[in-house]
Amino acid sequence: MSPSQPLHCPDISLWMSQIEPETVTRLSLTQNLEVDIAIIGAGYSGLWTAYYLKQQAPNLKIAILEANQVGFGASGRNGGWLMGSVEGEHHLLRSLSPSDKPRAHACIHGIVDEAKRVFDKEQIDCDFAHGGWLSVAARYPEQLPIVRNQLQQLHAEGHSEHDYCWLDHSDMQSRVNIHNTYGGIFSPHAARIHPAKLVNGLAKAVERLGVSIYEHTTVTKLLPPNGKSGQLVTPKGVVQADIILPCVEGFSYELEHLRRYILPIQSLIVATEPLSDSQWQDIGMRNHELVNDACRLVTYAQRTADNRLVFGSRGTYQFGGKPKSTFQDNQQVFATIATLMKEFFPMLGNTPVTHCWGGTLGMPRVKQPHALFDTRTGIGSIGGYAGEGVGASNLMARTLADLILNKDTELTQMPWAHHNTLEKTLRRWEPEPFRWLAYKSILSTFSREESILSDPDSAPWKRKMIHRAAGLASRVL
Ligand SMILES: Cc1cc2nc3c(=O)[nH]c(=O)nc-3n(C[C@H](O)[C@H](O)[C@H](O)COP(=O)(O)OP(=O)(O)OC[C@H]3O[C@@H](n4cnc5c(N)ncnc54)[C@H](O)[C@@H]3O)c2cc1C
Repeated sequence: MSPSQPLHCPDISLWMSQIEPETVTRLSLTQNLEVDIAIIGAGYSGLWTAYYLKQQAPNLKIAILEANQVGFGASGRNGGWLMGSVEGEHHLLRSLSPSDKPRAHACIHGIVDEAKRVFDKEQIDCDFAHGGWLSVAARYPEQLPIVRNQLQQLHAEGHSEHDYCWLDHSDMQSRVNIHNTYGGIFSPHAARIHPAKLVNGLAKAVERLGVSIYEHTTVTKLLPPNGKSGQLVTPKGVVQADIILPCVEGFSYELEHLRRYILPIQSLIVATEPLSDSQWQDIGMRNHELVNDACRLVTYAQRTADNRLVFGSRGTYQFGGKPKSTFQDNQQVFATIATLMKEFFPMLGNTPVTHCWGGTLGMPRVKQPHALFDTRTGIGSIGGYAGEGVGASNLMARTLADLILNKDTELTQMPWAHHNTLEKTLRRWEPEPFRWLAYKSILSTFSREESILSDPDSAPWKRKMIHRAAGLASRVL
């Protein structure tokens, strides 16, 4: 990779910069309040949960308390991959028999259609484009066995050729022209969305159903209901509720009950100015397919409705697991991501990067999502998406609504549904400095691997050694 020059971009996501601020401002809480259900956090998790609860129980009085504004968290900053898959699926479904797995797969793959059904019903225009997802082995040959193994594992778990199929070099290149493409996987189970349009559209939909959203209202203390009324303390009022649902994912650090279970990790993204038709003819992504490669630093790209290329990669982790919302100090990392993007797509030439931003996602100790509700404490929660929560939050919210309403449904039978507390369901993270040291050493192995493997002149023994080391680090992760 050529040396990267620092970029200078505004510290706001492309998505939030495209939303008219005056159409989405809301009041904060200034007095005490009594509700049936109080939700902390106005991201996808909180909003989808409120939506499905109101669909089934329209009389429930629900309030959502948001520390900043709707979509301030990862929901207003992500890469816009609405996926019909969940992170850690293999591990999550391992307790199911081969005859039960297809039902679970259908629930997971069904996320995209269910989300689309709601977008149509509620007239949420979020630039939805159902073009599927391409996982490409490209740039260096070591990616090929990684992607082939990924496909083999998916088929061994019972997914069909329709769900995930192999595209050889020329078929893949006709869809996306990444430098040195070897081939890869296509799956129809993913759609492109505009994250901020989605989160704001959902907020408006739940408000139409009678849910109150209070912005700039930080919950500073949570007293669980434990059979009575629980309390959420905010600077200007106390909310009493029979059921409390923290839906804060990457911000779990700030709530004592969740701190050790979901770790905040940062992911960073850049966006170009709108590309010309001839650049898109060169790149492809004609059906708005979402694209990644097998680089261990995690890459993800989308073609936006206004024809920009949005490209994300790399994470950061703050000692102590603190969330982060401004990324001006990460200019060098943004520059590295922009360089990587141009290595993917040399036809970008000197196309300017107009936006670079980051966000905080939530990483559970065991990578898999959960929906849990404990009737004794009155506390419920969804999350643990490990960076894949755009679609998963919809599925987990539907499951949580069924758990809260005490319905025995297909979703409440699934391995991600728990009638239990967070403490009894999730594994705790190790204390510092172990987390920080482990994260730093794994990330530096991945970065080293990336720089050695993307150099065609690097010595074969070096390539072999670093690839092995990174494979081991990946398994540890
Ligand atoms: C850069 C980036 C790219 C990503 N790309 C993708 C992708 O392409 N596809 C995908 O599936 N996933 C992606 N993800 C992950 C996905 O965005 C998240 O999993 C998802 O948005 C989580 O939604 P959420 O509602 O649970 O959390 P959030 O959207 O983070 O919402 C939590 C909300 O809680 C509020 N809050 C926190 N503490 C308090 C408090 N004490 N009181 C009141 N409010 C509080 C916060 O202000 C925030 O608005 C990405 C994440 C990042 C950061």
